[in-house]
Amino acid sequence: MTLAPDPATLGLDHGTADLLGLFRSTGSLTRAEVSERTGWARMTINGRLDRLVEAGLLEDDQPTVAGRGRPAARFRFSPEAGHLLVADIGASGMRVALCNLSGAVRARVDVAINIADGPDPVLDEVQDRFDRLLAAAGGETATWGVGVSLPGPVEFATGTVVEPPIMAGWNGTRIPERLGRFAGTVFVENDVNAMALGEQRGCFPTVADVLFLKVGTGIGSGIISNGAVVRGAQGAAGDIGHLWADVEQPSGRRLRCKCGKEGCVEAYASGWAIVRDLAAADQPVTSVDQVMERVAFGDPLATGLVRDAGRVIGSALANAVSLLNPSVVVVGGQLAAADEHLLSGIRERVYARSLPLATRDLHITRSRLDGDAGVTGLAYGVADAVLSFDSVTQGAAGPQSA
Ligand SMILES: [Zn+2]
Repeated sequence: MTLAPDPATLGLDHGTADLLGLFRSTGSLTRAEVSERTGWARMTINGRLDRLVEAGLLEDDQPTVAGRGRPAARFRFSPEAGHLLVADIGASGMRVALCNLSGAVRARVDVAINIADGPDPVLDEVQDRFDRLLAAAGGETATWGVGVSLPGPVEFATGTVVEPPIMAGWNGTRIPERLGRFAGTVFVENDVNAMALGEQRGCFPTVADVLFLKVGTGIGSGIISNGAVVRGAQGAAGDIGHLWADVEQPSGRRLRCKCGKEGCVEAYASGWAIVRDLAAADQPVTSVDQVMERVAFGDPLATGLVRDAGRVIGSALANAVSLLNPSVVVVGGQLAAADEHLLSGIRERVYARSLPLATRDLHITRSRLDGDAGVTGLAYGVADAVLSFDSVTQGAAGPQSA
């Protein structure tokens, strides 16, 4: 398949890119509505609308009839003008998808991988799956960008993997160099941040402050503050799994965590910790999936451990809520399937230990996107990078060009 007409070549000016942003966030508008919202002159509006229609980024919407006379023309963002290729890469599996420019998943495939095999085999597999998705799509639209998330720290500006704890051989890998043949823009993000972005933009688009909590084999969080992902100086923000766990241990001994420290939240409340505890109780369990099967069947020991985990996580989350004051906390990851068994403990501790002002309008809810949260968030991230003023005017290829 031929490469995309790179949006960088569209040469949209700042105002035109702003107008595109308005349509992406509001839906369909008439010329008069654009005028009301922007205060721009009629000539300016017409010129900018023409540019976007020519570029295929706006299309006619259903006309509305206001009283008698000719209906006013309506325009809306055209999310099928191009497509995005995204890969949400985890420790043992990845979801690869083709999305439209509004983040909707058009085709997806789940593939088993081992992240510890290193970047060459894993990224070869990603490219192979991208090629297959493109072939299946029939080349009807062009690829406008690529998004990749990884289970480790990423230097966002360059798309480089930085000292990942569980990704042997990946340190220093520049993802955009490996996938640049598909599109000019390659957006690289930490996996939990991508999920947070997917939940916020996909399910709570009017909420600016969202905290996403992933409780799976490990525990992590993605922070959206004032509408933007909070990454921190080294891309390590949101590492809630390695906060000090609030547990009573009369012996004074703290459980050892996989990070090498003692007493982390993960060491008590993660999927791997529950597997360890069940095995110690002579229960033949070796994976988080098996733990969840037991919870689904009402096994009292497994259910009790998940409830205890909820309380430990809730104490850590209470601190995060006091610091960040999110409006919504979304809980995802494999253990979220335990639903109230996990959420009740989380809620109990958060409401007991955070200040009333921070919890007055706080909603703690289960992920709606589940396994699609990561690919959806990547699609939004890539679309923002491709369609924003910075990338379209400077010919920049998104985040990796910095
Ligand atoms: Zn730890």
